[in-house]
Amino acid sequence: MSYTRFDAVEEAFARPPVKAVPPAPATSEYYGCCVFNRKNMRKYLSSDTRQKVYESIEQGVTLNRDVAEQVAAGMKRWAMDMGATHYTHWFQPLTGGTAEKHDSFAEPYGKGESLEEFTGKLLCQQEPDASSFPSGGLRNTFEARGYTAWDPTSPAFVMGDTLCIPTVFISFTGEALDYKAPLLKSEAAIAKATADILKYFGIENEFIYSYLGWEQEYFLVDASLYAMRPDVIMAERTLVGHNSARNQQLEDHYFGCIPSRVLEFMKDLEFECYKLGIPIKTRHNEVAPNQFEIAPVYEQANLAIDHNLELMAVMKTVAEKHGFKVLFHEKPFAGINGSGKHCNWSIGTADIGLLSPGKTEMENLRFLTFTANILKAVYDNNALLKASVMTASNSHRLGANEAPPAIISSFLGTQVSQAFEELLNTDDMVRIGGKSKYSLGIPQIPELLIDNTDRNRTSPFAFTGNRFEFRAVGSSANCSSAVTVLNTIVASQLVKFKEAVDRRIANGESQVKAIMNETREVYRSCRDVCFDGNGYSEAWKIEAQRRGLDCETSAPLCYDAFLSEKTVETYKSVGVMNEVELRARTEINWEIYSKKIEIEARVLADLTANHILPVSTRYQSILLDNVSKMKEIFTETKDFQQVAAGEIQIIKDIAMHTSEARALSVAMEEECDKFNAIESQREKAIKFHDVIVPYLESIREHVDALEMIVDDDMWPLPKYRELLFIR
Ligand code: ADP
Ligand code: MG
Repeated sequence: MSYTRFDAVEEAFARPPVKAVPPAPATSEYYGCCVFNRKNMRKYLSSDTRQKVYESIEQGVTLNRDVAEQVAAGMKRWAMDMGATHYTHWFQPLTGGTAEKHDSFAEPYGKGESLEEFTGKLLCQQEPDASSFPSGGLRNTFEARGYTAWDPTSPAFVMGDTLCIPTVFISFTGEALDYKAPLLKSEAAIAKATADILKYFGIENEFIYSYLGWEQEYFLVDASLYAMRPDVIMAERTLVGHNSARNQQLEDHYFGCIPSRVLEFMKDLEFECYKLGIPIKTRHNEVAPNQFEIAPVYEQANLAIDHNLELMAVMKTVAEKHGFKVLFHEKPFAGINGSGKHCNWSIGTADIGLLSPGKTEMENLRFLTFTANILKAVYDNNALLKASVMTASNSHRLGANEAPPAIISSFLGTQVSQAFEELLNTDDMVRIGGKSKYSLGIPQIPELLIDNTDRNRTSPFAFTGNRFEFRAVGSSANCSSAVTVLNTIVASQLVKFKEAVDRRIANGESQVKAIMNETREVYRSCRDVCFDGNGYSEAWKIEAQRRGLDCETSAPLCYDAFLSEKTVETYKSVGVMNEVELRARTEINWEIYSKKIEIEARVLADLTANHILPVSTRYQSILLDNVSKMKEIFTETKDFQQVAAGEIQIIKDIAMHTSEARALSVAMEEECDKFNAIESQREKAIKFHDVIVPYLESIREHVDALEMIVDDDMWPLPKYRELLFIR
């Protein structure tokens, strides 16, 4: 007997929890032990060298080769003491995930001898074989080579037996080939633009950061059941599968008790995260069965993103140890909540959060100034912001009836909305809500008490007290894509704002009045982006269109926003990417989109032909056999019809669904072959979206109908009810 779905289910349900590694008594004893952090640097680097490294991390000062040589020597000793035998430049190609090529420290020389070697040059720069990564034509246009360069602002770490050095990946002519390089440039851009505005508020010589706190959602499935689902293995989602009778209707999973098997996994995961200095803070169940979330305390965006990518890698290994597979796909199961990665984003100095309303009038004006400019940037670039999070997998969330809709609007909450409305309606000399004239000419904005009670869960870009929460980001995404766009558009808007304020000052307005008047105008021009209602309603779609918000749901068309004149100008104005780089990225987006859909199409066609149809026709034959035998017993036509009508109908249904599914699969594959010949990546992606995606949906309908008809004993694929409930 061959291994069946039932063997897998039995295995899954009988699997005892794997005891997590008992953590050391207190996290403080091992936190960050696998990171080349300050504590470890103190042991392995001289104080001069450390000083230089800190300057580089905190102020972006470039490290010279001598210092790099010292750092490399210390880093090597530390890594070898940690048991590392290899090192790698760890980078973030546009295909998603991370890439690494491991080199051994061992440097064999002479006759049968070897030395451990790691120089400053090896630390600073490497040349991986870039040809296997997509470049969107960049390397054809320029050089066939790309190199990785050390990013000292994100500390090196040891994972397994390898020293991992965070790097950017760029072409020899300097174009970014990865996610990190533009992110770092966008951080510099927003730091500069923000610092220029802060001078008005008496804050100078402070370094500015963009901060990010992500919330990673994911699904777990049992490894044995996973192994029986070729669609989940290859496309990370179920391409077929009828809804389970019980899924999330009861909403009893959210914040419910975590199954013990999962809890042990989480403990292990947290242990591994703490060793890597990932500041994990919360863990809980999510809305859907088998869905969970893990979130850290926010950090500087660049570091937070590296930590998120490290987490995703660690999760896969830890899950395997516990007999799970972790799914980062945004929509692994139809009809059940998808997974996102909310990006909580803010800007600030080391001590001051600029999106926190303050206690004084000046602080509140500062808050309104930055908030208004962010809203304006989001309003003017809402299509671009959506494009930054749109992927083949995330498009199942965006625009579908679940948070958030495919229209980027912002929710402010009552207090902040009111403060802005007051600013609009007040003559600046009049005190809000009061009678007396205000001598400084600052509207006395009441102290804002930010409530978190009226949080709007359908808003894609919600103000949540001291930050904006961008909820449209997909669970499998590299957050850099979204954060780079946010930093860039806000930086560019702040530059424009400063120019306008300076013009007002030159025309005789006082500085405070100029800021206030300009903030009012900025808010007035973009208040249409604010929406506090139900983002799922049909009425909102119509209203959003009227307000000039982008309502496109087709991913390939959304990507056009990267190449609009406005986007190119915005990116250029703050020096984050040039037009060639933007075009390359967009080409890659289209290419990846087509490839993902094509994989789904091929897998589904395979599944239909090799799993579903054979089983369905086998079951049909059993019924046919039964019916023809009945005919021998019930010789009267009337009697026969009465007893066999039901089965005959099922036979007909199976015939209809199998023939339809077969015909659609064949046609879909033919279309795929045809579309593959299309030269233009954009045109190709549009075809995959417009033609192939509907095929996937209709084939699924037939297969899911068959799942409900065919004998449960014969069905080869683990069903939703088996995949979705961990015991
Ligand atoms: P919720 O699920 O209620 O949205 P969580 O506590 O799960 O909230 O996640 C909120 C995230 O926002 C955390 O990572 C938190 O550190 C982060 N965060 C809090 N304040 C800021 C801020 N000023 N800037 C960026 N992120 C922040
Ligand atoms: Mg959240």
